[in-house]
Amino acid sequence: MANGTYCQPIVPDAAIPTPIYDASCRRCLRLARFLDEVRTAYPRYRCLPVPPFGDPAARLLIVGLAPGMHGANATGRPFTGDFAGILLYETLHAYGYASSPLSRTAEDPLTLADCRITNSVKCLPPENKPTPGEVRMCNDYLAADVATLPPGGAVLALGRIAHDATLIALRARRSDHPFAHGARHELRDGVALFDSYHCSRYNTNTGRLTPAMFRAVFDAIGAHLDRDRSTA
Ligand code: SF4
Repeated sequence: MANGTYCQPIVPDAAIPTPIYDASCRRCLRLARFLDEVRTAYPRYRCLPVPPFGDPAARLLIVGLAPGMHGANATGRPFTGDFAGILLYETLHAYGYASSPLSRTAEDPLTLADCRITNSVKCLPPENKPTPGEVRMCNDYLAADVATLPPGGAVLALGRIAHDATLIALRARRSDHPFAHGARHELRDGVALFDSYHCSRYNTNTGRLTPAMFRAVFDAIGAHLDRDRSTA
């Protein structure tokens, strides 16, 4: 399965809208200026909007919050190079979505099958906190990600901000779909939205999100997709 990056534009399938990512996007002035500062401090870091990664024809889209300073912002691949990716890629590998349980650099041969990973906000925000306006500003990119899902697909929202951003992208009402870990929400075209606490260092270290809790969410997704856990 192909994996989308800026350097390797996704070849559009007739049924799959072309993603509209723009590596030069600076619509959020605060974030663009912050990236300029971080690029000066860490000249080896990518410091650009981070594109989605994974199978462009995936039935499962995983939506995170935003690139981490020393993870996706540095490597250019979601959840790659920092703590937040450890549990995520371990779990994706255990469920047959990832070719490896490790994702440390964007140069490794890791591939995803039937799964794609993106973020609600494509640029690194200060203190990992995008403003509501920045979430809205970036939402057309997320809407393009969500639009690649086939009918009956699944979205896994990692945290409340990802949940809310997905609802905006799908034009669903937040009051009809409150965030809760382990919750499932029926959206348009048979797409189901699954909620999980974010697999951040804080949440995993404090036990707010345990590996067993995370696996239970993936079990529910697998049941929705009629997918055998051993399917690679
Ligand atoms: S967060 Fe999104 S909309 Fe804002 S500058 Fe980055 S890519 Fe553009």
